[in-house]
Amino acid sequence: MGAITDQAGKLLHTSNLYEIDIQTRLADRLCALSGMDAVFFGNSGSEANEAAIKMARLHGHSRGIDTPAIVVMESAFHGRTLAALAATGNTNAQRGFEPLPEGFIRVPYGDIEAIAQLPDRNIAAALVEPIQGEGGVRVPPADFLPALRKLCDQRDWLLMLDEVQSGVGRSGHWFAHQAAGITPDVMSLAKGLGGGVPIGATLVAGAARELFGPGSHGSTFGGNPLACRAALAVLETIEHDGLLAHAQAMGESIRQQIDARVGELPQVVEIRGAGLMIGVELAEPCAELVDAAREQGILLNVTAGTVIRLLPPLIIGPAEVERLVDGVCHLIENMAPTQTQQAN
Ligand code: PLP
Repeated sequence: MGAITDQAGKLLHTSNLYEIDIQTRLADRLCALSGMDAVFFGNSGSEANEAAIKMARLHGHSRGIDTPAIVVMESAFHGRTLAALAATGNTNAQRGFEPLPEGFIRVPYGDIEAIAQLPDRNIAAALVEPIQGEGGVRVPPADFLPALRKLCDQRDWLLMLDEVQSGVGRSGHWFAHQAAGITPDVMSLAKGLGGGVPIGATLVAGAARELFGPGSHGSTFGGNPLACRAALAVLETIEHDGLLAHAQAMGESIRQQIDARVGELPQVVEIRGAGLMIGVELAEPCAELVDAAREQGILLNVTAGTVIRLLPPLIIGPAEVERLVDGVCHLIENMAPTQTQQAN
């Protein structure tokens, strides 16, 4: 907060014709943390993905493909702008907004065989969340991202990772894909990066750096001094306060405690996630738990209809963990048994 108020008193915005020192510092820091080479700044996750989608098309055209396609995943979420919505694997979110931009090929999440078997004619890139958030906190098989990296290298596709939800410490790593030991060609960030101030970032590595030249993309407010100062403060705080290890420890503790208390109940299918990105999949739809939890002072969401999603702040402490676990378990224990469960 100090960084934001200090910067607000100095300079909020300036023309893109100037080099902005704080923006350069943030780009350098993000590149150092990710091993990537350059950053385009926008204002949201959807925008960060739009930039990635535009890069995929440029990459396709540079390979002589007239109608480049991007491989995307079932139950993916990439945002609400038109191309990001077309990449999203949720027909409810898309309904009413047709015609959506074309050029997306959808396969089951985490299924490397399904991707390998696609006809390679016009594919330019794969766009994937390393952990699906809106799709129900789904973690792919451990070998999925390394295998996809290899496939993208073999076929000259860009590997584009949407880390809008899973990035910036949420998974207990700076970026969730780092657990798989790979580096993408393109990565989108937003959400936690600004600590509440709108910012989006599209990072590029290697040859992908050359895709955008002067004038090929732009944003009036992207990378403004206020947002960049906030994001720098977020990264400094995560590092200084050891919040990656903290997110891993707290996340592990939450998952273990929930498992110990309700893991054996028939209404619980699976408890999963990484760091402080946690999902509890139930056997039945449970959207009503969002309001019931709010009445207890707990903010959670239900994604994919049956998955309680917990994204607590990275600074959550043991006392809050206890309260969260108790509240969530209480809600699950008190769910009315369904007919199927009664019959068993
Ligand atoms: N990508 C992912 C993985 C998301 O979870 C979201 C938002 O939930 C977005 C993109 C869109 O981000 P924004 O709402 O900042 O446009």
